[in-house]
Amino acid sequence: RFFFFAGHSLNVLFFLRQGKNSHPVLDNFRVEKTTLSPDLKEDEVLVKTLFLSVDPYMRCRMNDDTAADYLLPWRLGECADGGGVGVVEASRNEVLATGDIVTSFNWHWQTRNVINGYLLRKIDPRMVDGHLSYVLGAVGMPGLTAFLGVREKGHVTPGANQTMVISGAAGACGSLAGQIARLDGCEKVIGICGTDKKCQALVSELGFTAAVNYKKGDISAALRESCPRGVDVYFDNVGGPISDTVISQMNSGGHVILCGQISQYNKDVPYPPPLSKETQEDLCSKNITRERFMVLNYMDKHEEGLLQLSQWVKTGQIKVLETVTNGIENMGVAFCSMMMGGNTGKQIVKISD
Ligand code: NDP
Repeated sequence: RFFFFAGHSLNVLFFLRQGKNSHPVLDNFRVEKTTLSPDLKEDEVLVKTLFLSVDPYMRCRMNDDTAADYLLPWRLGECADGGGVGVVEASRNEVLATGDIVTSFNWHWQTRNVINGYLLRKIDPRMVDGHLSYVLGAVGMPGLTAFLGVREKGHVTPGANQTMVISGAAGACGSLAGQIARLDGCEKVIGICGTDKKCQALVSELGFTAAVNYKKGDISAALRESCPRGVDVYFDNVGGPISDTVISQMNSGGHVILCGQISQYNKDVPYPPPLSKETQEDLCSKNITRERFMVLNYMDKHEEGLLQLSQWVKTGQIKVLETVTNGIENMGVAFCSMMMGGNTGKQIVKISD
């Protein structure tokens, strides 16, 4: 038997399902203290959590039917889970040693966690230039979503003078998708997001050609001004009326990257949500492709994608924006804030040093 010093962990439990037609609220979560068992079984490791991720797909996990076969609902009264990164403090796994940095998509929202080591992936901190939170963002799932979304569904052709529009542009995936589109050869990259400050960050820090605040003024007119030759590729993170407006300004033979539809996640609608008749006709008459994109469908391309993203980040060709909230007790705050647009770049929660 292997012993480690018994201690406490703070855990965030998923506490309340409120139904599909509502915004997430702080009362959905509750923090509890538990005692950790003092011994590890074979293959188990004790990990200290460093960073946790909150992501839009978690809204589906709050429903008893997630409407997606690859997503299990969070169970009432149990610890919530999602992307996490941490450090091994004790190990009975032959591959992992004390001090190793590890990650998982199913990291419990706990300050310390006993977990089977084979459920963890070891990380080389050099991949993220020592910024371990990037494992949950630019050099992790959101980065791969942006990269593979653009590469697999965008049909970007260098020298073709293409204009790409990105909705949810100041978020984790959107802020990276715009920069990747630029690196891959789009002539113009236009972002749509929810505040003037975010618009300014997209243009002055990330090199977007222009940005439109969808909460202010006439988006249709602002887009026409920014995209005088029309829109060739649309990276869609939000759906709803914003997407109807973008699609109405798309050129024939254009491509929609159907990444997400966050504007509809607090409603009881299927995924992808039904389109208006006008938008369907637009797509059809202009022969625009709109294929659903799922990052999990490209597991064979993840390793190569992470290497490319790591290289871009390390050489400064991609700039990373993050919003960091402190403390496990603020997981619910960070999640609800992200769903309402409180984040610029990837929303991260820092759990410990
Ligand atoms: P973000 O970091 O972009 O955070 C969500 C953002 O959505 C907010 O910051 C907010 O920004 C915006 N938003 C919220 N409500 C609305 C609304 N009603 N209308 C318009 N914008 C809204 O999250 P991610 O980058 O993690 O995810 C972005 C999208 O990508 C989501 O739809 C997600 O489901 C999808 N996704 C898809 C994957 C796939 O494999 N297909 C994988 C990962 C993510 P603002 O201030 O601009 O409103």
